[in-house]
Amino acid sequence: MKETIYSIPINESFEITDGQCPVCRLHRRLTEDTLEYVLGAAMMEPDVRQRTNALGFCPEHITALMQKQKRLPLALLLETHFKKLAESEKHLFNASTCYVCDRVNGFLSAYYGNILYLWRTEEAFRRKWNAQDYLCRPHTAALANAAKEHLAKKEAPVFLASLREKAGASLKSMTESLEIFIRSFDHRFAGEDLGEHKQAVQNAAAFLCGAK
Ligand SMILES: [Zn+2]
Ligand SMILES: [Zn+2]
Repeated sequence: MKETIYSIPINESFEITDGQCPVCRLHRRLTEDTLEYVLGAAMMEPDVRQRTNALGFCPEHITALMQKQKRLPLALLLETHFKKLAESEKHLFNASTCYVCDRVNGFLSAYYGNILYLWRTEEAFRRKWNAQDYLCRPHTAALANAAKEHLAKKEAPVFLASLREKAGASLKSMTESLEIFIRSFDHRFAGEDLGEHKQAVQNAAAFLCGAK
């Protein structure tokens, strides 16, 4: 069935309960697969080359592609991309497109639909979902939007309530952590061991950024 084609990676990611966002985990894996694909098998796919020529790569992903140290395939991709930019003003004057972002986002939207399908139909997945206590802000918002599209009127509020519950608990503990961190700058509390609250700002930023 179409809706369950990505159930394996989704189940694998939701199996892990390490306090990290399970959708970020999927996102990072998709990005990594796409970078490998772009510099490997996709080189020989004329349809994909047409898309990489037209869309190019955003600064974040050109940096990631450079880090792969595969200079020849990257040179070949950029050579034909540059020819496209030279011949088309439409593409030259639009710097906001990226083949990697485009492919990753395409898969992610399908994943959102699949996550909701699994949540709706599989008891075992619902247990895994309930055991996850943290989702980053971007993926919380993305799943909330997807719920409105994929779930029936009766089911959506149940799912949204579980999203709110996870986000509420995370926001509460991160806010407390930020308060303790801020308090440590007050001379009356100088020398107090911050422990895990040393990471308060990093954790807050990670919540807002998601898989980067
Ligand atoms: Zn996330
Ligand atoms: Zn990109």
